[in-house]
Amino acid sequence: MIHVTKTFLPDQKEYNAILKKAWDTSWITNRGDLVKKLENQIKEKYHIDHIIATTNGTLPLQLAIKGLGLRGEIITTPFSYIATASSIVWENCKPVFVDIDRETYNIDATKIEAAITEDTKAIIATHVFGNPCDVEAIEGIANKHGLKTIYDAAHAFGVEHKGKSIFSYGDISTCSFHATKIFHTGEGGALFANNETLHEHMYHLHNFGHNGPEAFHGLGINAKMSELQGAMGLTILPYIDQIIEKRKAAYAHYKELLKNTSLGFQKILENTKYNYSYIPVLFENEAQLLRVIEGLNHANIFPRRYFYPALNMVNYLQGQEMPIAESISKRILCLPLFYDLTKEQIETISIIIKEKLS
Ligand SMILES: *Cc1c(COP(=O)(O)O)cnc(C)c1O
Repeated sequence: MIHVTKTFLPDQKEYNAILKKAWDTSWITNRGDLVKKLENQIKEKYHIDHIIATTNGTLPLQLAIKGLGLRGEIITTPFSYIATASSIVWENCKPVFVDIDRETYNIDATKIEAAITEDTKAIIATHVFGNPCDVEAIEGIANKHGLKTIYDAAHAFGVEHKGKSIFSYGDISTCSFHATKIFHTGEGGALFANNETLHEHMYHLHNFGHNGPEAFHGLGINAKMSELQGAMGLTILPYIDQIIEKRKAAYAHYKELLKNTSLGFQKILENTKYNYSYIPVLFENEAQLLRVIEGLNHANIFPRRYFYPALNMVNYLQGQEMPIAESISKRILCLPLFYDLTKEQIETISIIIKEKLS
């Protein structure tokens, strides 16, 4: 069976060797040496000033909304994972969708201004499949209208734009280190704030608001990463460049084999060092997509309709029409892409797709 993704795991001995440090000290959570070491390694590798490791990739989105004190309308994308929009609702704000660009699948920055009202407080945009949003255009709009920007960079580990880590854009960026993501800690994530004051505020927020053992800065919650997760991160991080290289080769192989077909591919923003975290292909219509899925499933291959449905079609988010996101979400499919996917497997998958297309 071939699934859309497969969690990268090196030799278990490597994990055990790092985990032993937690055993030796009986310190398995509350920001021990392993989590701090992981944070430092990520900061150094990607030249980032601030990071807070978290227990998953959803809490940092909720923390960002809470920590920036947002109340009211938040402009966001209808083409993302549910966590982007559910976090807005969970924090008692109102998601206002802006449709996406047909080629990049990211929020269409040229349509944002028309959606701004007196109640708009922020923009939360997703770097869809790791492809950076038009961060310059969004920054310009945010500055002009006094809005905060949060980037859901759950897919974007290792991505750079104009020579800078994608995590350094916006007031806050968040990432997911879930087992299905390109870099993972089993469950996990991170929050990246763009200045020291905001970082400190977010840091308190993620640890119950603690100011020492007996005092509090204010309201907080528990979003801490454990040492067990930290150990997993330290095991995987040394492989990340290799993981991206392997995916890059697989991505190129798919594109070569599928180039003379009617399939569409995502357009990656210029000046980007991409991470090849997904290979989405766009069909002409949903019937074609369903035929291909059926053919692949028959051969025990399980791609994923990602993202489907468009978020404005989810029951508690309904009421705004997003024609482009709705159309693309019905026609897009993420093909299997992971570290040890072989050339032969890519060929098999491509042959089935081409057969079903014709
Ligand atoms: C995976 C994902 C999340 C949520 O991350 P978790 O670690 O699963 O909580 C949020 N946004 C996007 C775009 C994602 O793909």
